[in-house]
Amino acid sequence: MSGSGAMDSFDVVIVGGGLIGSCLACTLAPLGYSVALIEAVSREVGDQPSFDDRTLALSRSSCAILQGIGVWPRIEQHATPIRRIIVTELGRPGRVELDPAETGLSEFGHVVEARRFGAALIRRMEQEEGIEIICPATVQQIERTGDSVDVNISVDAGLRRIKGSLLVAADGAFSTIRRLLDIPTREHDYRQTAVICNIVPEVHHAGRAFERFTPTGPFAILPHAGDRCGLVWSVDREAADRLMALTDDAFLAEARERFGDELGAFQRMGRRSQYPLRLVRATRDTSERVIILGNAAHAIHPVGAQGFNLGCRDVAVLAEVLATDRGGDPGAQQVLRRYSGWRRPDHDTTIGLSDGLTRLFSNPSWLASSLRSAGLIAHGLFPALRRRLAAGAMGYRGRVPLLARGESLRARQP
Ligand SMILES: Cc1cc2nc3c(=O)[nH]c(=O)nc-3n(C[C@H](O)[C@H](O)[C@H](O)COP(=O)(O)OP(=O)(O)OC[C@H]3O[C@@H](n4cnc5c(N)ncnc54)[C@H](O)[C@@H]3O)c2cc1C
Repeated sequence: MSGSGAMDSFDVVIVGGGLIGSCLACTLAPLGYSVALIEAVSREVGDQPSFDDRTLALSRSSCAILQGIGVWPRIEQHATPIRRIIVTELGRPGRVELDPAETGLSEFGHVVEARRFGAALIRRMEQEEGIEIICPATVQQIERTGDSVDVNISVDAGLRRIKGSLLVAADGAFSTIRRLLDIPTREHDYRQTAVICNIVPEVHHAGRAFERFTPTGPFAILPHAGDRCGLVWSVDREAADRLMALTDDAFLAEARERFGDELGAFQRMGRRSQYPLRLVRATRDTSERVIILGNAAHAIHPVGAQGFNLGCRDVAVLAEVLATDRGGDPGAQQVLRRYSGWRRPDHDTTIGLSDGLTRLFSNPSWLASSLRSAGLIAHGLFPALRRRLAAGAMGYRGRVPLLARGESLRARQP
């Protein structure tokens, strides 16, 4: 397919085949859009950075979206429901226990392994004739020609040129597309690193997810398959190096001391990985014939487990905007405007909350700690506050896209 001759044309060219780019391909192809998915790293799941060891808490709205695009049945049997969320602060009063029954539901969402989720996405994409996966490949240049975007890609066999009506950048926090388009970012380095691993505690998790704020960053435990739990421990950079170097026994003892007694002793653990934490937000999420979404538009702190969920809502909204403009030009200005206008309030609120919480809970001042305790105590006392928090955790904030409500989108008119 490389070399000279007619350029291959697609309705949508997605750059980045991580969790979000792959979800978008799985959403658009069944609606009748031809999709090219360009991914830099080999499709072997073991090599793919987006499909790694992390445990992901998927909100209820993300689970509905995945159901709507045929991915959920492939991961459901390995997913663990979240039946309670318990929020506390180390050494301070106040405890919020969120129960989905307060909103008439049985769970907040589910926990899945990113690796297994990625494998399911690849299998789903392989079933769709409308998706061409170009991998390993990287974008060298993009050129807007008025009615299309021409993309120069370097592939094993040399150079290939394709064109799309719409180009979607889903190439992660260090997005090449953003750089090629000169789109600036606003960034904040939290000077924290998340150390993650699976642990097996003495007491079964019973579907409980814990978020415990500490002065060095949040400590989260997610319920996982069987008796396992996913641990996400955010600490400052130097502490992360030390935690990574500890023996398993020493690590487990220190983690338990940080967390407290609620799950008993931490008995066994899996491999540790670490992720430096920064906020990266693109100052624009559209440019002529281009939409930027997922981590390429907004990479956020894992507190509250919202990063993928926010990107998944980007996917559902873009698909709905395209589906309601059936037969139209996918890269038209009105599509970009509708997408961006719909997404902005959710982006502002979710990014603001995750950033605000991270900064508030790492502020040692008397005023900040009093505000935190008052907030936790108030949420513990008032069901209305808890219900609002619960709706946010489930991904139901603002205008909810059809897929997230469990409704389907109509296919494109031929
Ligand atoms: C420790 C931790 C825990 C988390 N837990 C949760 C959670 O519980 N719930 C939740 O909702 N979110 C969570 N997140 C956030 C979530 O993991 C991310 O939001 C999500 O993975 C973003 O997916 P993405 O596809 O947008 O980006 P990425 O995962 O970064 O994928 C980008 C893809 O683009 C490819 N790529 C990069 N450059 C190019 C290029 N030039 N050309 C082609 N391809 C390219 C990459 O190889 C990659 O496959 C967590 C994050 C961390 C760090």
